[in-house]
Amino acid sequence: MARPARARIDLDAIRHNARLARTLTPRSRLMAIVKGDAYGHGAVPVAQALADIADGFGVACIEEARELREAGIEHRLLLLEGHFTADELAEIDQLRLDVTVHSDYQGSALEQADLNQPVAVWLKMNTGMNRLGFAPDVIAERVQQLGHSRQVSERILMTHLAQADDLGAPTTHNQLARFDAVANQCPDMPHSIANSPGVLGWPDTHRDWIRPGMMLYGANPIADTHPGLKAAMTLESAVIAERHIEPGETLGYGEHFRANRPMRIGVVAMGYADGFPRHAPNGLPVQVDGKDTQLVGRVSMDMLTVDLSDLPDAGVGSRVEFWGPNVPVETIARECGTIPYELVSQVTRRVPRSYQEG
Ligand SMILES: *Cc1c(COP(=O)(O)O)cnc(C)c1O
Repeated sequence: MARPARARIDLDAIRHNARLARTLTPRSRLMAIVKGDAYGHGAVPVAQALADIADGFGVACIEEARELREAGIEHRLLLLEGHFTADELAEIDQLRLDVTVHSDYQGSALEQADLNQPVAVWLKMNTGMNRLGFAPDVIAERVQQLGHSRQVSERILMTHLAQADDLGAPTTHNQLARFDAVANQCPDMPHSIANSPGVLGWPDTHRDWIRPGMMLYGANPIADTHPGLKAAMTLESAVIAERHIEPGETLGYGEHFRANRPMRIGVVAMGYADGFPRHAPNGLPVQVDGKDTQLVGRVSMDMLTVDLSDLPDAGVGSRVEFWGPNVPVETIARECGTIPYELVSQVTRRVPRSYQEG
C-alpha cells in the first residue's frame, strides 16, 4: 500500500477550459501558458491534451521548452521572458522557439546572432506592470529596428496586465490606453494582452493572441468560482489514523488548536512537504468521504489533522479532498491568504500525479 497523497489531473477539464477560452475570444489565437510545469499539472501531458486546441504554448525558460520539444510537441513555443543570456540563442534557433524581447540586451544579442532561421519576436511593452518591457516612448523605435533585422520573421506587440482581476480598478483602462497609443503607430502588428482575467473579464484585451494560464486549470482569478470552468486538479489523500482528544488537549505541534469538547480526529497523509500551505487556518474546509468538515491543528511536514466528530462513518481509509471539484481551490486560497496559482504550482514532486480523461 502506497502513501495515499495524490494529485489527480483531469485532462478533459483542461480541454474544456481551453475551449471556453476559445469561445470567449473567437477571433484570437490561443497561446496556452504551461510554465511552471503547467502550474503543477504536468507540462507534457497538458500540452498533449491541448494539442488540437491551442496554437502555441508559453513557457518561462528554455528548459521548459526543451521538455516539450523532446516530448514531440511541434507547436509554437514562446519564451515569456525571452533569453537570459546570448548563448541560449543557438538552442532557441535549434528548438524553433518564439522569443520575448523586453530589454535592449536581448535585442542586440538577437541582431548579432547567427541564426539558421529567423525567429518570431514578441516585443514587450511596459504599460504599468513595471516588471518587464520597454517604455511606451521607446518601443516604436525598437519595433522599427527589429523590423529591419534579418533575424526576425514576425513581430508581435505584447503587454501584461497588472490588475485585471479587479474589474473596478482603473489600471487596466490605463494600460490599454498606453498600449493602443503605441499600437496605432505600429500598424499591422498582431497584439497580445490578455491573461486569464483579461480573457474572462476584459473583451477589449482579447486582440490577436490570448495568453491564459490559470483559467485552463479551472480557477478564476476574478471571483471565487466561475460557472463555466472545471477544476483540473484534485488534491487528495486519506485518513491513516484516528484518535479521540479531550477538552483542553492540543493537536500536533504547539497550541495552534485546543479542543473545547471531546473530539474524534483523523490524521491525514498530507503536509507542507507535499506543498500544502503550512499557514492553513483552523476551520479550513475539507471533504472527507464527500462530506464537509474542517482542518484542525497545525499542518506538519507529512501530516495534518481533520475533525471527524460529526462524521461517524469516517475513519482510517476515508478519502480526503483538499481541493478539486467539490472544494474550490479559490476558497482554500482565500482562506490561506494566497492565490490558487500558488497552491497548485507548489504541490511538490512527492505527490504523484495521476491522469484521467473524463
Ligand atoms: C504567466 C503569464 C500569463 C498567464 O497568466 P494567467 O493569469 O495565469 O492567465 C500570461 N502572460 C505572461 C507574460 C505570463 O508570464
